Amino acid sequence: MASSDGVEGGTPHVVLVPLMAPSHMIPMVGMAKLLASRGAVVSLVTTPSNAAWMEGTIQRCAGSGLAVQVIVLRFPSREVGLPEGCERLDMIPSKSMTRNFLRASEMMQEPLERRLRESRIAPSFIISDAGAAWTRALGRALGVPRLVFHGYGCFALLCQHNLHVQKTHLSATSESDPFVVPGLPQRVEVTRAQLPGAFSTSVDMEDIREEIREGELSADGFVVNTFVELEPSYVSALEETTGKKVWTIGPLSLCDRESPYETEGEDKASNEASLCVRWLDSMKRGSVVYASFGSLARLPPSQLVEVGLGLEASGQPFIWAIKTRGEEASREFESWLGDEGFEERNKGRGFLIRGWAPQVVILSHPAVGGFLTHCGWNSTLESVCAGVPMAAWPLFSEQFLNERLVVEILGIAVAIGVKSPTIWGEEEKAGVQVTREEVARALVNLTDVGKDAKERRRRARNLAKAARRAVEDGGSSLTNLDLLLRTVTQEMSPKNAVVVK
Ligand code: UDP
Repeated sequence: MASSDGVEGGTPHVVLVPLMAPSHMIPMVGMAKLLASRGAVVSLVTTPSNAAWMEGTIQRCAGSGLAVQVIVLRFPSREVGLPEGCERLDMIPSKSMTRNFLRASEMMQEPLERRLRESRIAPSFIISDAGAAWTRALGRALGVPRLVFHGYGCFALLCQHNLHVQKTHLSATSESDPFVVPGLPQRVEVTRAQLPGAFSTSVDMEDIREEIREGELSADGFVVNTFVELEPSYVSALEETTGKKVWTIGPLSLCDRESPYETEGEDKASNEASLCVRWLDSMKRGSVVYASFGSLARLPPSQLVEVGLGLEASGQPFIWAIKTRGEEASREFESWLGDEGFEERNKGRGFLIRGWAPQVVILSHPAVGGFLTHCGWNSTLESVCAGVPMAAWPLFSEQFLNERLVVEILGIAVAIGVKSPTIWGEEEKAGVQVTREEVARALVNLTDVGKDAKERRRRARNLAKAARRAVEDGGSSLTNLDLLLRTVTQEMSPKNAVVVK
């Protein structure tokens, strides 16, 4: 990545407001580095425990002359009934506390505005997570443009937008009745149950969903973690249908090779990374399957058993990032790993990681040849960057849409074949969705030597090359970023911005 100054005249100051969840903060840290490398001053809004996690990254930015600073604000957990120190979405005790969590983050608006005014920071513009809809009022109060960052790619955003407008999903006869997503260049079918939470018919979070939607519709543009070569027709269709400028500036994981979660905080994480790399070094090129379901999902022990037995039956060496919800599930699953002899049988062939896995490091290792993934957008892009084909097992959110993109449109993944969602926080209710045989079949299919598998690997490798080119000097994403900085600071220049004297 170049560190040239992409902006002429004046130094833009960008305030980044992430949603406090790992998969939303990780790309925003990458974005902070990228913006600073093109000449911007960046203030990243965060909370005490998240700041501690990012400390090393921020120090390294300073060390390399990048102007990235953090604005640390107290997270009002106590005021909304969350445990003290609960500052991330994946830490909330139950899904029913999501509303409390979002309310707490909304309460940061006033302290943030005060801090910006007191510190005489005059932002040129704000980039905020779509989930931090409260920044709409902040942008207005400061008189500066506000761009919305989605954790989604353009394909999923376009599907979502078209469904919001055309409401095709409402004419489906049931949750499992397939219908064609309207307004796409290709025919894509989904069911209502497979759509993101924004389409849930439950009234539970309706007001919050409405605020998020309004926050998107009132934004001055979208910033998307993707690259135009990955989904060109969907980038342009999204611009046309929403009437908003879409700035594709990814893949951000290529701009932040040292994710804060991999290198900071617990020593355990970096130890794990070096053990893991040493183990991978001893494996044949392209032979290892990596299995992980993201930062939020916690599959129930009964389903984890099927994953384990499927990995074993595939005959491939594997790395498996295991996460359970609660002590009871953890005990139950650990005893299965031990008592049933799984760990013993797979010694040397299977590398188990309890907790946080150094995912980008693993995927980028040449020994890894396949990724069993839940199709979270970050994971999907990280796999694309590494040129690793996927076995797609979507769980919730927009993951079924991402599955359609990688399986049907890009041809870089095989579908596990899961039809129903496993809702975050309610994984136990879903029980066993995928059997060991289905896991094994998909993995064998993914890694075999047949024509289809070879073609899949070739396409994945080509996209990885395109991803790298996008973030090089003159590449599409870097060019977009320079243009973004110039356009927002010069053409959308704040008319009533807070004046720093
Ligand atoms: N991640 C990781 N180690 C883990 C779990 C997740 O590094 O053990 C990272 C992963 O690399 C990705 C993010 O966390 O950057 C997960 O984001 P994604 O959008 O794939 O899924 P989500 O966590 O939102 O379900």
